[in-house]
Amino acid sequence: MALLVNLRHLEEDSRQETGELTGEELGLTDIDELIHTPLPLQYDLEVSLLENALLAQGSLEMTLKCECSRCLKPFDLHISEEAWACHLPLEGEEAATVENDCVDLTPHIREHILLELPQRPVCGDDCKGWKKPAKMSSPSKQAEATEEAPSPWAALDKLKLD
Ligand SMILES: [Zn+2]
Repeated sequence: MALLVNLRHLEEDSRQETGELTGEELGLTDIDELIHTPLPLQYDLEVSLLENALLAQGSLEMTLKCECSRCLKPFDLHISEEAWACHLPLEGEEAATVENDCVDLTPHIREHILLELPQRPVCGDDCKGWKKPAKMSSPSKQAEATEEAPSPWAALDKLKLD
């Protein structure tokens, strides 16, 4: 389900639109291999019809599951916008697409989330990155092995053992 706003319903008065959009509905599932969207975005918007424009304003909130691009640690990235506003003209060159009296706000919310995303997710400003093992006299092969990212299979193996 997309977030469709029916313009006819707004002729009398503004409306409160509250609900959720999944990462799939927002088209955010394949944005970055280090950023995942298992949790839906929550929106609480007041939508009103202005002269020749649609105005949506309110809050957007979403928690993304990320992996640090430096140390590979998983962490949550909270995106919380209390005063999001979206002004969509209904006439002229920039006019929003209206289909069956409805305007889809989903792509505009997607745009906002994309703007909030880091270029490369990092777990914290003080992240030192993946810890390099102390210098060893043994051939570098061993060092390479310890530096490898923890694989999901290793985690699975552990589960099996338990
Ligand atoms: Zn990190």
